Amino acid sequence: MKIQMPELPYADTRLEPVISRETVEYHYFKHLQGYVNALSMLVQGTEFEGNSVEDIIKKAPDGPIFNNAGQIFNHVFYFMQLSRPHDDGAPSGRLAELINASFGSFDEFKQQFAQAATSLFGSGWVWLSQDKGGKLVITKESNAGCPLRSGLNPLFVVDVWEHAYYIDYRNRRADYVAGLWRIVNWETVGGRLK
Ligand code: MN
Repeated sequence: MKIQMPELPYADTRLEPVISRETVEYHYFKHLQGYVNALSMLVQGTEFEGNSVEDIIKKAPDGPIFNNAGQIFNHVFYFMQLSRPHDDGAPSGRLAELINASFGSFDEFKQQFAQAATSLFGSGWVWLSQDKGGKLVITKESNAGCPLRSGLNPLFVVDVWEHAYYIDYRNRRADYVAGLWRIVNWETVGGRLK
């Protein structure tokens, strides 16, 4: 991933009513653009100039360069896995098998994931990742945290920074997470498996 704004692969109204056009405008086109602008400036003249966002996440020490790289990767990862609302979407194929093997069932996975998302204190991200043994794990990361940094293969993420949901849900983080299941593109998530 280069340090730039990727084109959003759907219209800014596509996620309504789960996520409003206004949230997409602020969250994608203003917050993400801010991180892209900041990192572009910060890497100039450093060893990270010309590096991919992923390499910066793996190599940079804690601090502004890592924080902005993490926020770029995490936001692009989040928005690219979403699509128009559906009522019957569920994982299939190998992803479904791995979810069942790791959590018992899709419903149990959603429950554990929602519990992690609502209990994360402050700003951060909740992830579904694949560990080195191929098992799926749910992890909570504060601020710009990203599982690439600990050698996991990220599959799915929910942004629980307040800016992700405050326009549409105010302080109701649990309602935001519950709504998100309707707009996850599970084919995209399954395509991230190694
Ligand atoms: Mn965000």
